[in-house]
Amino acid sequence: MDADLIVCGLGPAGRALAHRAARRGLSVIAIDPRPERRWQATYAAWADELPDWLAPRVVAAVTDRPRARGTRWFTLSRAYLVFDTAALQDSLDLAAVRVIADRVAEIDWPGRVRPASGAPLTAHRIVDARGLARRPRRAEQTAYGVVLRGEAPTVFMDWLPDNGAAPGELPSFLYTLALGDGRTLYEETCLAGRPALGLDLLRQRLEYRLHARAIEFDDIDVTERVRFPLEGGVAREGRFGTAGALLHPATGYSVAAALSAADPVAAGQPLWPASARAVHALRTAGLRALLALPPHDVAPFFDTFFELPPQLQRAYLSGRADLRGTAAAMSALFRALPGRHRRILATAAAGVPPRHR
Ligand SMILES: Cc1cc2nc3c(=O)[nH]c(=O)nc-3n(C[C@H](O)[C@H](O)[C@H](O)COP(=O)(O)OP(=O)(O)OC[C@H]3O[C@@H](n4cnc5c(N)ncnc54)[C@H](O)[C@@H]3O)c2cc1C
Repeated sequence: MDADLIVCGLGPAGRALAHRAARRGLSVIAIDPRPERRWQATYAAWADELPDWLAPRVVAAVTDRPRARGTRWFTLSRAYLVFDTAALQDSLDLAAVRVIADRVAEIDWPGRVRPASGAPLTAHRIVDARGLARRPRRAEQTAYGVVLRGEAPTVFMDWLPDNGAAPGELPSFLYTLALGDGRTLYEETCLAGRPALGLDLLRQRLEYRLHARAIEFDDIDVTERVRFPLEGGVAREGRFGTAGALLHPATGYSVAAALSAADPVAAGQPLWPASARAVHALRTAGLRALLALPPHDVAPFFDTFFELPPQLQRAYLSGRADLRGTAAAMSALFRALPGRHRRILATAAAGVPPRHR
């Protein structure tokens, strides 16, 4: 055996796992075509999702009570944070890991990896954390963001239709994130689409919206382009991160889930008890429901979501193995919705294709 563990892929998930496994004293090999690539994305998460072992310096800013707007304003009683992406990457130190710069051509389960150019490697355990590839039929999340000077308050989502979108078009929301260094990320986001809105259109909507709010768009520090699949992860042991269905299909979040699962997976604990599988199925039904909602019903739908008690919102957003909480959140949401929503969502969640698109 070449190692106790081979980790394929060094995105946030694979790097967290390789780092924590090495910390436990395992011999670890990690393979990625560009292991030194610096992460560029702006990653955020709910503060209560982070594992204790994470160094405080990886957090760039925390908003204790972020706001959100469907058709009206809500204040969320849950702290939301943005990572310092470079500090996060550096803190997941790989000094004790044998890092190989190569592409994994094939994994022969349970214990052999074939790199594209090197000799095969064997290990007691292999974990696939190679992320998710885009496919035409996979629903995606897209966003176009700009970082501007000046600090605005964090708004988790704002569905006010002041972005120039025509009625009946797939809607997008504004995500406003205070970065903690005197700058703010403004991101026009298509939560889920099959296909999702293109980045050029999102840029136009962002420009329109910021102009409508008298926010200067000229002095851009950085732009952020977001496009990733919401579907395709496999909820099975041996997969991790988005490749392993740790991405919430109805929200697009996965980084905190991977960080908090890194220790248990390094310790060999199962990631997919029956409760987690059932939650994953419910979340996937949640994505189907989201994709089926008529555009003008999306903002009122989020009003209903943000009216749920905080513990139910939390269960739905973050309770990866909390079947009782997720089911309670979804049924409370369902009960609170107007009749026309209920029919659409029930049909879509059951997997029947929508008729209105
Ligand atoms: C711009 C952007 C912003 C996002 N913001 C957030 C956010 O705020 N919060 C959040 O939770 N999520 C966010 N996401 C979604 C998601 O959590 C991220 O995509 C996250 O990076 C997924 O981590 P991962 O490690 O599972 O996969 P990836 O980051 O995709 O990493 C996969 C790794 O595998 C490597 N790889 C691929 N193929 C091979 C191969 N054949 N052999 C070896 N290695 C391979 C790649 O080089 C890469 O390093 C965002 C996504 C994007 C694109």
